Amino acid sequence: MPASSDDTPAIDILAQAGNISGAEREFYSPMPDGYKPGNHKYVAVLGTVMSGLGKGIFSSSMAKVLKDKGLRVAPIKLEGYLNIDSGTLNPYRHGEVFVLDDGTECDMDLGTYERMLDQNLTKRNFVTAGQIYSEILDRERQGVYLGRDVQMIPHVTGEVKRKLRELALRGDGSGPADVIFVEVGGTVGDYENGFYIEALRELAFEEGPGSVCFVALTYVIEPKTLGEQKSKAAQLGIKRLLESGIQPHLIACRASQPVTHKVREKIAMFSNVPMERVFSMHDRESIYTIPDELRAQGLDREILSTLGLHDRVDATAEDRARVRWATFVDGLTAERKQSVRVGILGKYAELRDAYASIDKALEHCEAAFKCDVEQVWMDTTQINNANIAERLTDLDAVIVPGGFGSRGVEGKISCVQYCRENGIPYLGICLGFQVAVIEFARNVLGINDAYSTEFDPMTNSALISELPDQKKIEGLGGTMRLGAQDVQITPGTLASFLADGHLSIHERFRHRYEVEPTYIERLEAGGLIFSGRHPDQPIMQILELPSVASVEEGVAPTEPITHPYFVGAQFHPELTSSPLRPQPMFMGLVAAALQHRYSNDDQWQKLKATPVIKRWLRTPNGQHQPTN
Ligand code: GLN
Repeated sequence: MPASSDDTPAIDILAQAGNISGAEREFYSPMPDGYKPGNHKYVAVLGTVMSGLGKGIFSSSMAKVLKDKGLRVAPIKLEGYLNIDSGTLNPYRHGEVFVLDDGTECDMDLGTYERMLDQNLTKRNFVTAGQIYSEILDRERQGVYLGRDVQMIPHVTGEVKRKLRELALRGDGSGPADVIFVEVGGTVGDYENGFYIEALRELAFEEGPGSVCFVALTYVIEPKTLGEQKSKAAQLGIKRLLESGIQPHLIACRASQPVTHKVREKIAMFSNVPMERVFSMHDRESIYTIPDELRAQGLDREILSTLGLHDRVDATAEDRARVRWATFVDGLTAERKQSVRVGILGKYAELRDAYASIDKALEHCEAAFKCDVEQVWMDTTQINNANIAERLTDLDAVIVPGGFGSRGVEGKISCVQYCRENGIPYLGICLGFQVAVIEFARNVLGINDAYSTEFDPMTNSALISELPDQKKIEGLGGTMRLGAQDVQITPGTLASFLADGHLSIHERFRHRYEVEPTYIERLEAGGLIFSGRHPDQPIMQILELPSVASVEEGVAPTEPITHPYFVGAQFHPELTSSPLRPQPMFMGLVAAALQHRYSNDDQWQKLKATPVIKRWLRTPNGQHQPTN
């Protein structure tokens, strides 16, 4: 449906107005150099009725379906809050802070997009109201607005359109995008996102008919007392959108049960949307089946029709993509004969959203191994040396995730010690890497007061400390080391086994403290192996204990410490795991957990011969041969 009232392409109106900002002009629609309105397509996803409907999952599933067809897609999340990024947000309130390759700290929805699309995103894919305002205020100080009073419309909306067009033109790093998926945070009617919605209305007008497809995600309630679905809330929500001057092209109804024909009819009738464009997006067992459900209901076809993209579809590419995805989904839904218990021992244990990517990374392993990974979340403030054996007794593996501050740290150190001494597979992530160093220093090297300057700036034995010089060399802003960096891998180690023999990997960091270089020699002499390092700085990035295999090979120090799987990463491996490419450190952990659970079982000989376990379990007899 065209956003303009007649068929005059909106761009002509803009051309008449001139694409400049000036005191005499009312228009302000900055376009990046080389941008041609009408050349790119947009799908805008707006939530009505309430938040928490899974807009990110829905939007990323739609983007995936189009990407599978061979189109280049780029998602963008428009956040209403005034923070410049998510870096300072409390994970208790907002869920995990997700980090992109370029160091952008953003909403965890960006993780959903990356995983669903198997595509790395950049700062261009994440916009907050804070960024927009701050850039406008900077421009205002530079005199860019030529004496004009700076207004919400057209200037703020103009900057939003600029961001969308920049993304369309440059994509997320790999060239122009065919379709931009715009997810507006919050719900239609919120104060915070009103200017985004207005900007999208203007965008549709300026780009011309067939350029922007508006999708309203709404909610159909089913009060228990009535036992039937009611459409009124959905109708009112969509009406609110119509009041903003936006006519949705498609409506997706979230609901717990399939939305009835009658309810869809009512919604269609009140919102000028034909029945075949009102979809039931009811709860499903797995979010990964949503792309296929969208195809089954023909939502992809309707988007292609709205945007005139049918002739761009590559059916062969789509078949291939669907087969790959189906392999993952089949793995996830296959009957599971084995089951392991993985403890996740952190400070935000009661809120899984705070560690959403770890949850997902383990799910990816479940599909690959076709086994159950039961996540046991524990709060380390409740753990000490006296109760540790009892608390960890049933676990087949332990993850100590990232974190900040000293609360719960002693409990984490107890966990590391227990895992190290009892051969429990261990994966330490960021803070979990640092506490592994502290534990080793205390209990193996005898440095009883080993600590981090994060927990006590005056500590006498700062095994972990803040190293401002290195930050200068790295040239990173702020005080955090953020984003993807190269990690050099030592051949012959567990890290090298996991990296399939590659000498360098690329992983995402978010930390302020690191292993104090003056202790490295002592730690290594004591038997700790730093198997991943910064290519030229003394920054330790992966640690491990000699595993059974490396001791037998004689590659690692011949200290009497051996462990089936003990590894720590200063980076966050969970951020780069995706359904189609589960992260190796997690795969190794789950393989080791299976061994921990089943090695005394009759079925173990057979089990360990399965290709996936053979690949990921490092044993003296089952050496993995690097494939390249
Ligand atoms: N607090 C630690 C640091 O800043 C670890 C950070 C993390 O776990 N993300 O270095």
